[in-house]
Amino acid sequence: MSKEKIFDENKKVVSILGTGGTIASKVDYKTGGVYASFSPKEIIAQVPEIENIATIRAREVMQVMSEDITPKDWKIIAKEVVKEINSDADGVIITHGTDTMHYTSAALSFMLKNLKKPVVLVGAQRSSDRGSSDAFINLICALHFITKSDVAEVCIVMHENMSDERCIAIRGCRARKMHTSRRDAFKPINDLPIARIYPDGSVEMISKNYRKREDDKPYVVLDDKLEEKVALIKMYPGVDSRIIDFYIKNGYKGFVIEATGLGHVSTIGKYSMLEKIKKAVAKNIPVVITSQCLYGRVHPTIYANLRKLSKIGCIFVEDMLPEVAYIKLMYALAHGNSSDEVKEIMLTNLANEISERTLE
Ligand code: ASP
Repeated sequence: MSKEKIFDENKKVVSILGTGGTIASKVDYKTGGVYASFSPKEIIAQVPEIENIATIRAREVMQVMSEDITPKDWKIIAKEVVKEINSDADGVIITHGTDTMHYTSAALSFMLKNLKKPVVLVGAQRSSDRGSSDAFINLICALHFITKSDVAEVCIVMHENMSDERCIAIRGCRARKMHTSRRDAFKPINDLPIARIYPDGSVEMISKNYRKREDDKPYVVLDDKLEEKVALIKMYPGVDSRIIDFYIKNGYKGFVIEATGLGHVSTIGKYSMLEKIKKAVAKNIPVVITSQCLYGRVHPTIYANLRKLSKIGCIFVEDMLPEVAYIKLMYALAHGNSSDEVKEIMLTNLANEISERTLE
């Protein structure tokens, strides 16, 4: 693939919103622990060359490690992104902890409607006070992606491999952290990266199907209605199916099951989840089936046990990632007025979270 400049550079305005995470952290040499402390302005002061790429506006929205981020924070972040985009920013970078960055990117993919400019999440696996930090290459590549490509989607930009040679842009609903510590931890699942970006400013487009930048206002519309009482339940050998009773009793409105293989849950004896799921569906609580395999798609009919689940009324959501289904169910419950409408929303591709064909 040729390395080409997609757009002529004309110093776009990029807003950087800080939320915390390792990218905003330094090591406390007394305890050896890493903690979030740098503001976005302090992070970018360490990479002055980024001012050559774009006009930067930076401010802090929150200062948390991403394991502490909740759905309420997604809404705060979404609101701030909308403010920036609907003023004069040509794109927004959100600096974010990596652990739950793919949850935030999925949430923003559903909440930022009619998006006509790029929104890019960037993190780091090594804190920004270390010479070996991956933060700066990630930031530089994110800026090149925003200023030189015509993509207008929510993406994650992080290293493609272990060297500092290049990064990839991954769609917000297709990204997943797949390694605890490597700088190339983020991978696109059931999808290709949208683009490959080099620190020298070259951008290779990999995907042809992406939403393109447009200049009509409004540039984005905020839709932050979410039903937060949704549970993500993992199926595993020996799971106590009474966990479902617990959630029903506590007023949960929907469940996503991270099932095994093609979408299985236990079906025999005291471990069986079937009766509990039936009980939930009878109470109009949607039960969505995803796979902990991540790669590939769930299937409601191949095995007799799968047929039992689909007969009960479970919603099999194709190749959607479990975390994405968890957030999308919050969205669907807040937007659908009946079980049928919720099901229809879950099975409608809204932000490239479902694909028709499985990648080989
Ligand atoms: N636990 C940290 C966080 O997600 C890790 C990181 O930022 O890379 O905030």
